[in-house]
Amino acid sequence: MLLYLARKEILPQARERLTELGVEHHLLPREGEPVFEIAADTSIFAPKQLAQQLRDLGRVEHNGARTPLLDDLSDGHTVEVSFRGGEKVVFRNHPERPVWIAGPCSLDNRENLRAVAAVLSSAGVRMLRGGAVKPRTSPHEFQGIGPAGYRMLAETAHEFGMAAVSETLSEHDVEEACEFLDLIQIGARNMQNFALLKRLGRVNKPVLLKRGPGASLREWASAAEYLLAEGNRNVILCERGVRGLERELRYTLDLAGAAFMQQRYKLPVVIDPSHATGVKQVLESCTAGALAMGFAGVMIEAHPCPSEARSDALQALDLDAFGALAGRLLRR
Ligand code: PEP
Ligand code: MN
Repeated sequence: MLLYLARKEILPQARERLTELGVEHHLLPREGEPVFEIAADTSIFAPKQLAQQLRDLGRVEHNGARTPLLDDLSDGHTVEVSFRGGEKVVFRNHPERPVWIAGPCSLDNRENLRAVAAVLSSAGVRMLRGGAVKPRTSPHEFQGIGPAGYRMLAETAHEFGMAAVSETLSEHDVEEACEFLDLIQIGARNMQNFALLKRLGRVNKPVLLKRGPGASLREWASAAEYLLAEGNRNVILCERGVRGLERELRYTLDLAGAAFMQQRYKLPVVIDPSHATGVKQVLESCTAGALAMGFAGVMIEAHPCPSEARSDALQALDLDAFGALAGRLLRR
């Protein structure tokens, strides 16, 4: 972005403004009226918004935005999840009541699901999660009970007054997912599955877009832009950790990146400390941190008998541990 100052005399004032806004800038070496080159592309402001803030200093020139549709969303953009037989769940940043999503990593049987649902709903959790089709690192690991699980999840969630969220692995799962689920999850490994993004951009259901473990913030934003480009503005972002340096933690929970996304792109952001850490002993402090930072919600894995969970057993809270955590942190 270029800022052509109206007069030489306002150079100090322009420097002050750009510094105050926190955007990288430098003065181009040239004769005549001063011109600043501004790194709008990496700033926390949408180009339009930045241009607006500089308008009184002179003429602003910029070419094209990467995410014009996201840039048009307003502060406090909300995403509502409606479901049969319950009060709709509202996702927004800096909420009065953050939304808690919880449940097993993968669905196994109805009995386990009902056991977890009973505890979660009485703790104040609004959404029940559970994977029916699972993206696993190895093809020899449990791949999920299949899309038939969507119905089981939705029936159980609704029975206990919660909404249902689960992942689709490909365009082929979308129709069945939409028939039963209230919120559709795009898994981290599918964040750049553009065919799936386009398909889910055309459905009449809100979407939870997880960040790929190796995805930059702008790649994550561009994936969301795909959903908006097909017409779906009901997008919630989910930070679930990125590839870091440690072996003790499964991933690195990028709370700063998530806070940047929240401000820059206005979409509600949910934090998933279960996958981000993989270590249930640090879950409570990460959850408390996420809640204190004003995210729209948190997503936590819980299972009635973690040692029997067919995926992500080590990070799953048992029902007592979940109840205790929710007792301390969940505001109704
Ligand atoms: C999950 O939510 O169970 C899951 C597979 O998450 P992710 O896509 O973030 O790994
Ligand atoms: Mn999991």
